[in-house]
Amino acid sequence: MKLKENLFKSSVNTIINTKLLRKAAIKKLDRFIFNSIMNDDSLAFRGEKIERYHFLTSLMKQASYNLDKGFIKPEVTRKMVNVFAGDTFNSKRLDNMQDTQIAFKEKYGDFPPKFLVLSPGKGCNLRCTGCYASSNSVNAEKLDFETSRRIIREAHDIFGSRFMVISGGEPLLYKSDGKTIMDLFEEFSDMFFLVYTNGTLLTEKVAQKLADLGNVTPAISVEGFELETETRRGRGVYNKILKALANLRKAGVPFGISVTSTSLNAEMLTKSEFYDFFFKEQGATYMWQFQLMPIGRGKDVTELMVTPQQRVKLYRKWEKLLSEDGYPVADFWNSASISNGCIAYGRWGGYFYIDWNGNIMPCVFVPYHVDNIKDIYAEGKTLAEGIQSRMFKNGRKWQKEYGFDVTDPDKKGNVLMPCSIRDHFQNFKYNILTPDAKGEDEDAEIAIKDPNYEEVLKDYDEELEKLTSKIFEEKFLNEFQGVEQ
Ligand code: SF4
Repeated sequence: MKLKENLFKSSVNTIINTKLLRKAAIKKLDRFIFNSIMNDDSLAFRGEKIERYHFLTSLMKQASYNLDKGFIKPEVTRKMVNVFAGDTFNSKRLDNMQDTQIAFKEKYGDFPPKFLVLSPGKGCNLRCTGCYASSNSVNAEKLDFETSRRIIREAHDIFGSRFMVISGGEPLLYKSDGKTIMDLFEEFSDMFFLVYTNGTLLTEKVAQKLADLGNVTPAISVEGFELETETRRGRGVYNKILKALANLRKAGVPFGISVTSTSLNAEMLTKSEFYDFFFKEQGATYMWQFQLMPIGRGKDVTELMVTPQQRVKLYRKWEKLLSEDGYPVADFWNSASISNGCIAYGRWGGYFYIDWNGNIMPCVFVPYHVDNIKDIYAEGKTLAEGIQSRMFKNGRKWQKEYGFDVTDPDKKGNVLMPCSIRDHFQNFKYNILTPDAKGEDEDAEIAIKDPNYEEVLKDYDEELEKLTSKIFEEKFLNEFQGVEQ
């Protein structure tokens, strides 16, 4: 372990600090990442490990490109690496974390999740089509500061978590008891925060503050280029976003791009121009794609979902983006190979979601809850009790049986259909959801009872199975023959 720790640290430090030696250090680290992934004893297919390797090596190379260009600052990168990977290669911290996680397993029967997504406030300054956020930022629903803080504290202490995702509404608007989201970033300086933001409030001053903090990366939402973004987000927003990206580059803060794929922009997302623009010209360090989840009223929403055919096209594009272009992109439905399947339900190494009302949900895209964190605290319990409902346990059981704890390759589920709700809707409705679960809002309540909605998703899942089972078989079951080093 000591040897590995030293090799890792010296390569990372060289990449960050020394432009001249960066290339050689990347080569060394690249080989190290490859060997570590391929030789780990996880139950993943070889094809899954290769995609993990491609993702990580692309991330490293894109970060290095941004360092070369001066788009990100060494100090910020150092902190990021330390929080993300430090625990894995620092024996003392690893021991502490492992003790925390073992204690959790002894008490609850399984290892804890790695992170959670917290949306402390619903308020937003934009009014994007189809978004649930409230445009009334002062009176919008929100968690009080103490509750937000306690959630993060407990994730840190009970789960051993060092990574948090903050979503919204618009997180940069969150204010409670005179405190803002920046106060949370500042207080939890040994944690790293990924913040989903519309970017319009990322002024030079805010960007500099994030650089000074050094433990935050914003992921800015776009829908495509100007036309696609402004059609949904409003006039003038795209230029504000480009200005925000310039502010982040000037301050040296690594940022990502977050894009929702729909049936309308899927074609555009299969073109290289989009990725070249945001990675090469704008200096994004990573990109997340979220295929629109059809929660909402009527067939408008289901028609906006990418079709099974488009999904396969996006998958094929994603493969190329990672292995040929070296762009670190992850699509939350197509990239399950790199996360060992569905990561929801607070599973071991996974996550769960808490919204502005305190409702505890398996995933941002599974809008049903049994527990509420405010009630849990009022009963004198902790965050850990919030993920012990029957619904959460059903979800974790399904995840294990579907793949992530299965040793027999013939019993592993199709990696290209990982989603517990979207890709296996009837299983979700009848085997995971419990009668005590409530919809996050009226739309979620209506959707789950609507027979037409069920029919649309059932057909979708059957079509997807037809289109992807052969890819799964050839690429994963029959031992993917990929990169050799
Ligand atoms: S429920 Fe679906 S969207 Fe949520 S983590 Fe699992 S696969 Fe991803």
